[in-house]
Amino acid sequence: MSVISQLCRLVLILHVNPAIPPSELVSITTHISPAVDVSPPAFSGHVPDRRAILELTPQELTDWLASIGQPRFRAKQIRKWLIKGRISHFDQMTNLPVELRRQLSEEFRFSSFECSDHLTGSDQTEKLLLKLQDGELVECVLMRDPGRRTVCISTQVGCAMGCIFCASGLLGVKRNLTPAEIFEQVLVLHRLMRADEQITNVVVMGIGEPLANYRALMEALDVLTSEEDFGLGARRITVSTVGLPEKIREFARSGRQFNLAVSLHAPNDELRTEIVPVNRSIGIQDILAAADDFFDATGRRISYEYVLMSGINDQPEHAEQLAALLRGRNAHVNLIPMNGVSELVMTAPGEPATQQFCQILEQWGVPVTVRKRKGADIDAACGQLRLNRQTASPVHTENLPQQVALLAVPVKESDT
Ligand code: SF4
Repeated sequence: MSVISQLCRLVLILHVNPAIPPSELVSITTHISPAVDVSPPAFSGHVPDRRAILELTPQELTDWLASIGQPRFRAKQIRKWLIKGRISHFDQMTNLPVELRRQLSEEFRFSSFECSDHLTGSDQTEKLLLKLQDGELVECVLMRDPGRRTVCISTQVGCAMGCIFCASGLLGVKRNLTPAEIFEQVLVLHRLMRADEQITNVVVMGIGEPLANYRALMEALDVLTSEEDFGLGARRITVSTVGLPEKIREFARSGRQFNLAVSLHAPNDELRTEIVPVNRSIGIQDILAAADDFFDATGRRISYEYVLMSGINDQPEHAEQLAALLRGRNAHVNLIPMNGVSELVMTAPGEPATQQFCQILEQWGVPVTVRKRKGADIDAACGQLRLNRQTASPVHTENLPQQVALLAVPVKESDT
């Protein structure tokens, strides 16, 4: 591990929880160092309680209704309320008999989670901190742009990838989210929106490595795209990955029309392994080969995400190496200058360095967009909230993931 990597992690760990004794720092840094396990621990199941109703399949809901003497069509009515209705309680399902509404609220939880915090930024970006049924926390975000409402959702509690610029992976992965816990993030943000607003895009770029929770993710996205359910176009959904080649190929073979974004962040394996430790066991060439296979199978251009960090991966030679990797491929680069986050030592390069990096890619004919982060002011507030909670309840610090929100809108675009 390089000095940069050790320094970044140590400062991040100490800042996140000054109360952690040195002996535990050793175990934490060991946990996130190179032997990163992509597979999270098996989900041990929810704590005993009523099931969240959307954890039931349509058939399970139909069977339960039959067991209490209700007709099959009630299942469709209930799912329609839950998935498209902007309601927050069974009592608001006004076309159901009052007795059935009472039975539903006795038997099931309305949602897979409770909202633990809700922050709104000056740019109208909204961030929710969601408390799952077993007490774990995840985040989801709604971003508003003219004619566009994009939500960003999480797929795991924590993350095994350990990217140095992201606190979500600091303590490893706790568990996978269930399909309902994934797609309900979209529903809860949909309920927040004004009646004249609709979700136009979903990006799976929140906490966790989406393709490490592949089966649940596909089930969740199928609910979001099914005409019977949420009805969002598959091409409006983007799944981001650090690059798990076999999962990318499985994704391509699935026949679904989702978009793929690969978080690259470095133009060579030595540097990428420092920034994205899981790269040590994969390698950039295997990722690019899998992404090429994805394009061949789907015809969909790949986005390559690149967080620019001053003095780490923002030099002209890095841009030239990146161009050499991507020119001639069906690729688009999203350059995301690292934004100042108090927990992290990395900073964004200045505007001249960013523009120079961009111009080098353009000169080599690689399409590139420079993006800026949304909701920067609520990121800061969220980090503060997490620190406050850690101080108040250190036993549960591992339940407070902090995501570096790389959620962006274009500020400069070139499709040369
Ligand atoms: S940036 Fe994404 S893949 Fe990397 S640690 Fe954070 S959540 Fe995981």
